Amino acid sequence: DHVANQIAAGEVVQRPASVVKELVENSVDAGATEIKLVLKEAGKTLIQVIDNGKGMTDTDARMAFERHATSKITSAEDLFALQTKGFRGEALASIAAIAHVELKTRTEAAEFGTHIVIEGTKLISQEMTVVPIGTSFSVKNLFFNIPARRNFLKSTNVEFRNIVDEFERIALVHCNIHFIMIHNGNEVYNLPSTNLRQRIVNVFGSRTNEKLVPIKESTEIVEVSGFVGKPEFAKKSRGEQFFFVNDRFVKSGYLHHAVIAAFEGLLKESTHPTYFIYLKVPTNSIDINIHPTKTEVKFDDEQALYSILRSTIKHSLGQFNV
Ligand code: ADP
Ligand code: MG
Repeated sequence: DHVANQIAAGEVVQRPASVVKELVENSVDAGATEIKLVLKEAGKTLIQVIDNGKGMTDTDARMAFERHATSKITSAEDLFALQTKGFRGEALASIAAIAHVELKTRTEAAEFGTHIVIEGTKLISQEMTVVPIGTSFSVKNLFFNIPARRNFLKSTNVEFRNIVDEFERIALVHCNIHFIMIHNGNEVYNLPSTNLRQRIVNVFGSRTNEKLVPIKESTEIVEVSGFVGKPEFAKKSRGEQFFFVNDRFVKSGYLHHAVIAAFEGLLKESTHPTYFIYLKVPTNSIDINIHPTKTEVKFDDEQALYSILRSTIKHSLGQFNV
């Protein structure tokens, strides 16, 4: 069982950024309006996520680390939606199997909170504690018991970049949540609750504002919203390109191509347009690879999607006279 836990852990947790993703997504699911991420050495020594969400009871807190413990599947319909949400009830069990984890949590109904320490799946202690409503997870010494994994981690710069990528993707979907990121004692992000345009500007800098062109279209198969960058602002690097399908970040070479097609004739050679594109599609018309670390998606009617996306963007660029 111990070994099974460690193997499964390798699926979910590949690097510090995977832990960040799982913990922050849990905080989002818990209804938090403020989520603070505290890191040391790109998460290699510390990843802490503090939220003001609904918290957990003593029992739920201990149960949360059991494999397949999830409070998020309550109906057959949920089970179907599972397709789009990745593994369920795997994350905390996996993280606890390969790190030193400390959890402090309290619900509104409880006077005192609970404080749990787990090291490599072993419950070290659980005690009552005085804490605010919400949850705080500290994950220390990632892969302390799997040296091969630990040695496989990249430089602090690379691992930090991976964390920033995950953090940005979540922040770009949940504009109504206040996100803070602190790395080695320095505040890297402080993103108050706001609208999408302002969130993008807060993440990517104030100069982003003037280049954003809104896109909007609603058809039977898809709702498109978000922003594309004006072509004259296109950059040599490909950093700012995002697709979100039903509020999940995905990569799609096919849809990327649709965007590039919309920019045809407008871009200077070897420049890349910025885009933040949000697609809403019926859940039964897509298949998101359910592996927790994958971000690929398959659409039933991808040709139609392609042409809707292309013409929507073309139209917006034309309207804004670029
Ligand atoms: P999943 O998110 O797929 O349900 P996890 O292993 O990530 O599985 O979490 C297990 C359970 O622990 C969740 O279903 C939830 O009930 C609880 N939980 C985890 N993180 C939080 C949090 N930040 N606030 C409240 N409950 C949480
Ligand atoms: Mg989770």
